[in-house]
Amino acid sequence: MAQVLIRNLNKKFEEVHAVKDVNLEIRDKEFVVLVGPSGCGKTTTLRMVAGLESITSGQVLIGDTVVNALPPMDRDIAMVFQNYALYPHMSVYDNMAFGLKMRKFKREEIDRRVKDAAEILGIQSHLKRKPRQLSGGQRQRVALGRAIVRHPQVFLFDEPLSNLDAKLRVQMRVELKKIHDRLGTTAIYVTHDQVEAMTLGDRVVVMKDGVVQQVGEPLELYNSPANRFVAGFIGSPAMNFATVRLHEADGSLWAQGDGVKIEVPAAIAARLRRYAGEEVAMGVRPEDLRVATDQDGAGLSVEAIVEVVEKLGSEILLDVQVGRSTMVAAVEPTVPAKRHDRLRLALNPERLHFFDRASEAAI
Ligand code: ATP
Repeated sequence: MAQVLIRNLNKKFEEVHAVKDVNLEIRDKEFVVLVGPSGCGKTTTLRMVAGLESITSGQVLIGDTVVNALPPMDRDIAMVFQNYALYPHMSVYDNMAFGLKMRKFKREEIDRRVKDAAEILGIQSHLKRKPRQLSGGQRQRVALGRAIVRHPQVFLFDEPLSNLDAKLRVQMRVELKKIHDRLGTTAIYVTHDQVEAMTLGDRVVVMKDGVVQQVGEPLELYNSPANRFVAGFIGSPAMNFATVRLHEADGSLWAQGDGVKIEVPAAIAARLRRYAGEEVAMGVRPEDLRVATDQDGAGLSVEAIVEVVEKLGSEILLDVQVGRSTMVAAVEPTVPAKRHDRLRLALNPERLHFFDRASEAAI
């Protein structure tokens, strides 16, 4: 087991600066997920930890060792990729044993490790089969098994579940979590899927354009996003944004914009006052909007016209027009809203987010 330290890590591919000054401390036994849109540099970061990509500048330490110059074989890591590339002519057993045979492990030790891993993964009865005789989920388990038998210091996962169908992905996600709880091996996991990141990660690293935007526990990212990008990326459906101008009137701070006029709650107003007279971005999550009742004051609701009603069973998603912008509200499944209805939507005052227009940092 080991911690992984990434210090001022940079990667330049000729004109592309793919990874920019990344600093991360992945603790022993921790499961850390790197997440971000395509091209944000997450795979390149992982590949530098693995030794599959050279480091332009900075350092990677596994345990106490600087591994920059070590080949992948000597880094005591095991990788699982999206494309699990099992050897088609070998049995499941031999696929899992192969890496250990290459490293000249004793036959009894190999046998013990393969059987232990098969038991953890629930594939004991498939050991004699060839990969083509397995389902996608079973093949992915074998690929995991190949990594587990190595007893590495660190697991590196690069989108390992993205070839599986949606249902299997959810199931394998749960299994991965259980396997990690059982083995306690430090893990770095790359995905573009924020739900996967939130459910798997002890901590999540959000990246954009090669730069780390925020590192935190899943709920920390959800509740206190550091900037507008993280706010929009984490959470599904995504946070709604409206441009509002802040101004003081009648002893209160108001946020006013297209279709929106809200009295900013006192607790938030204190830190927003310095923006009085300026435009800021206001964010509200779909789940923090609900159909207003007579008790809701006008100062914390918006007028909306329903455009689309998505009945998901456990909730209804209303795509609504507020002024000229569209928003999504996740409301109770019993709400009888129809297309073209006019509604007032109440906002949860404690859960409004505001962002600087220029820097996009949370304020
Ligand atoms: P994806 O989810 O699409 O794999 P990613 O976040 O993992 O995206 P990377 O694969 O790390 O992103 O790529 C980061 C940037 O570096 C991209 O702009 C990509 O085009 C560029 N890049 C990656 N590999 C190379 C390469 N071998 N040569 C040149 N540019 C590269």
